[in-house]
Amino acid sequence: MSTLRLILGDQLNPAHSWFSAPDAHAVYVLMEIRQETDYVLHHAQKIIAIFAAMRDFARQLGEAGHRVHYLAIDDPANHQSLPANLDALIAQYTASTFEYQAPDEWRLDRQLADYAAQLAIPARRVDSEHFHTRRDEAAQLFAGRKQWLMEHFYRQMRMRHGVLMAGPGKPLGGQWNFDHDNRKPWPGLPREPTDWRGEHDHSALWQSIEKAGVASFGEPNAKRFRWPLNRDEALQQLDDFIAEALPHFGDFQDALTIRAWRLFHSLLSFALNTKMLNPREVVARAAEAYESGDVPLAAAEGFIRQILGWREYVRGVYWANMPGYETQNYFDHRQPLPAWFWTGNTRMRCLAQAIGQSLEHAYAHHIQRLMVIGNFALLAGLNPAAVHGWYLGVYIDAFEWVELPNTVGMSQFSDGGQLATKPYVSSAAYIDRMSDYCKGCHYDKKARLGERACPFNALYWDFFARNGERLAGNPRLGMVYRQLAKMRPTDLQAAQDKASEIRKHLDLL
Ligand code: FAD
Ligand code: SF4
Repeated sequence: MSTLRLILGDQLNPAHSWFSAPDAHAVYVLMEIRQETDYVLHHAQKIIAIFAAMRDFARQLGEAGHRVHYLAIDDPANHQSLPANLDALIAQYTASTFEYQAPDEWRLDRQLADYAAQLAIPARRVDSEHFHTRRDEAAQLFAGRKQWLMEHFYRQMRMRHGVLMAGPGKPLGGQWNFDHDNRKPWPGLPREPTDWRGEHDHSALWQSIEKAGVASFGEPNAKRFRWPLNRDEALQQLDDFIAEALPHFGDFQDALTIRAWRLFHSLLSFALNTKMLNPREVVARAAEAYESGDVPLAAAEGFIRQILGWREYVRGVYWANMPGYETQNYFDHRQPLPAWFWTGNTRMRCLAQAIGQSLEHAYAHHIQRLMVIGNFALLAGLNPAAVHGWYLGVYIDAFEWVELPNTVGMSQFSDGGQLATKPYVSSAAYIDRMSDYCKGCHYDKKARLGERACPFNALYWDFFARNGERLAGNPRLGMVYRQLAKMRPTDLQAAQDKASEIRKHLDLL
């Protein structure tokens, strides 16, 4: 009699109650499977990071006295899918019960529920013991509302969890949100902290992944691999972030620069999303840093808002809308991705940098994802499902529950405004204000027409002109539509002609 317990690649939480004491009747199963490497084309570093962290987690469980069955990608006994491997292992261990932690992705949740339903032995889904909220909590909070304001959700979370509060209903500093203080461009100082992450040589693992025929893209960087493998490394990274970067996080959260790829961001999303770190401890550490006078309130609040606010909120949006969210397409955009999404080879300096570093590091920070790559994708009318596939594959932290609402909802406005109060788009003026990209770009940030005109400019006006019916009534866009109304019809027509020319030749930009 034994219980087979499945651990998915993003469930590497050593504090889970499953592991409180070794249980001779429990067998823990981890598997590297083609089902998971192949559902979308992944960045090489994402595959290496998840497999390496799974291997390390299995090692730790074994050392702690747990029984572990690990199926490597090249194990001849590996059937490369969850149901086939589980059938074989249930038979091998004559398991009398099957248990799994609630998956965060709808795809896996459905697959495992279907699998459990047809089993001859009892099956049980347990909580993953990670998030602040239940899957359906945001849906309950916003019941009956068309638009889900993150700020409303965030305040509820602050009050419920007593984070940065001066008293009941009273936020510390008299303000809930210091977003307005978080919009400075980066002048070059203070210096970007050195990359504090350790290095690992994963060449052997990478070879076995390649030999197994797993397709991927991006730089593997297997010899000098830098994403954390386990909780100890993730905790070290959290310490380093709090000491070296959090003090400046608030100020430069939205800044963009050619000279630094991380700036003062934490790079903690991989460790959080694979559950090596718990969001409660990360939030508590940032709040403590403020209380002990090490960081300004605006920095601690700005960081905490991302985790206690945005991260939990997008998860609620995901579960309230799945399945079906992944195919939403409010603007009916159909344009395929330009080839340079896979190479970074474009003369647009902002996109060359943001996509180039995504391919190199499997990472871009939020504003690069939203206001450079996502901004272009929306203005150019790229198919949101293809944009979603790219984001889901390229980023080290991309798991559908968090990536999809960010891409399809926040960045592409494909849900028609459930998540975002207006489309996140801009002309070159915003990018120039927040970055040093435009100086030295092939394109002219000020021009709307002509060979060297920055493509963002014509695309921007064309986007609002062609979507007037959908957007003109949005109170946050009043100024844009007033400006558009003042534009001479011939100028607008010229911008629209230029935009359609650009869309015809996206590969050549
Ligand atoms: P920091 O800037 O240091 O922020 C701290 C933490 O806050 C992050 O680690 C993350 O856990 C959380 N966070 C910040 N912003 C968000 C957000 N909007 N939604 C959810 N959590 C947030 N984040 C992912 O974890 N996975 C994704 O696949 C993902 N895809 C995105 C796609 C698009 C189009 C956009 C605009 C954003 C996406 N984000 C995603 C959110 C955000 O960009 C990343 O969480 C962040 O860049 C990760 O880097 P960091 O750890 O250095 O974050
Ligand atoms: Fe990007 Fe336009 Fe600036 Fe060039 S000029 S960096 S394309 S915004």
